[in-house]
Amino acid sequence: MTEINAKLDGELDDLAFDREHIWHPYTSMTNPLPTFKVKKAFGSTIELDDGRQLIDGMSSWWCTIHGYNHPELNQAVTDQLQNMSHIMFGGFSHDPAIQLGKLLLQITPPSLDKIFYADSGSVAVEVALKMAVQYWTSLGKQDKTNFVTPRSGYHGDTWNAMSVCDPVTGMHQIFGSSLPNRIFVPAPQVAFDAAWNQDDIRELENTLATQHESIAALIIEPIVQGAGGMRFYHPEYLRQAKLLCEKYSVLLIFDEIATGFGRTGKLFAWEHAQVEPDIMCMGKGLTGGYMTLSATLTTKHIAEIISRGEAGVFMHGPTFMANPLACAVAAKSTELLISQDWQSNIQRIETQLHTALTPLQSLEYVHEVRVLGAIGVVELTFNVDMKTLQQEFVRRGIWVRPFGKLVYVMPPYVITSQELKTLLEQLVEVVVQMQEPVV
Ligand SMILES: *Cc1c(COP(=O)(O)O)cnc(C)c1O
Repeated sequence: MTEINAKLDGELDDLAFDREHIWHPYTSMTNPLPTFKVKKAFGSTIELDDGRQLIDGMSSWWCTIHGYNHPELNQAVTDQLQNMSHIMFGGFSHDPAIQLGKLLLQITPPSLDKIFYADSGSVAVEVALKMAVQYWTSLGKQDKTNFVTPRSGYHGDTWNAMSVCDPVTGMHQIFGSSLPNRIFVPAPQVAFDAAWNQDDIRELENTLATQHESIAALIIEPIVQGAGGMRFYHPEYLRQAKLLCEKYSVLLIFDEIATGFGRTGKLFAWEHAQVEPDIMCMGKGLTGGYMTLSATLTTKHIAEIISRGEAGVFMHGPTFMANPLACAVAAKSTELLISQDWQSNIQRIETQLHTALTPLQSLEYVHEVRVLGAIGVVELTFNVDMKTLQQEFVRRGIWVRPFGKLVYVMPPYVITSQELKTLLEQLVEVVVQMQEPVV
């Protein structure tokens, strides 16, 4: 005990302890950005330890679509808790996994038929990549093991997920040759609502034409490139990509981890293009932000080929696969979403984002304002000082976490029009008062 206690410096208050001992996402341990201690959260409100309340503009990174502390989601968790919080998925199954599966098949592309539950978005991506490779090796194509992906993508932080993230803004420099070499094509350039230009797909076409024998799959975030730059691109890109994948025998993986569950104005972003992938990943909003869970779906055909391969099985099986608590709350969250008029609600948020953010376009240092569904993005011409900006937002009672040149919001769908108005007024004031750094 003394050993353990010796490490606890009784002098440290809680935030100092946090600063000293607990790592936060992408932070330095010697010069961390400040953190704010949260006491509780409900609806679109985040309450800090000191009683200050913030209007949430982030949905805890795309997750809390129904807001925090939702009575029905709470009930789903507590009900499930009475039965079991976990049971191994090897040799057992259970209602939450089955009920959730039935719902997921209803709302995903018709050709997707088999569901693999995994722990997090990154793991869902790992699973998708492994499925693609196992598919081709089962068919005797031992060389089809690489992946092609557009630049500016983001697919997670585990090893292979990292390898298909944007090679410049991602982690390629840091991890160097320890990362597998992937094939990158330029990011889609034609904007979501611009006129399509066939040149946008040329580089992908050339790459597939020359290298398809080494490529297992194309992995892409449909319509919205999220953490790699919050870019919205043209649906025709996906239609063309699908044709090319078919022509060159390359599987198509859609990473819908950020775009899923209504965020872009469609239940899933593939619907903007009406293009069905061979494999699809979902996560983030899946449990309504209650806990970590992801799923990778694929077709009957791919599952059968994998199962006919030398291994005879798909080689993945996490300890917490299909965790019953997570599946129960995911099923309830999905039910809640599809049982309401979520389209009109997203439309309401989209209209308000448009109205409030578009005027910022006239500022010299605003490169572009973009809105799609319940996502609003202000791209500046310079990198923001996250620390200063974050503190200013908190001082004004809103929670917005910018990164790079991007100040963006993706509020919980339960946000009221009044809350959203306040959130956007404060955000706009901060952006208007910003000064371009003199370099
Ligand atoms: C967040 C994200 C991931 C990774 O999910 P984690 O749960 O953080 O591992 C993968 N792909 C996309 C598109 C994401 O937005």
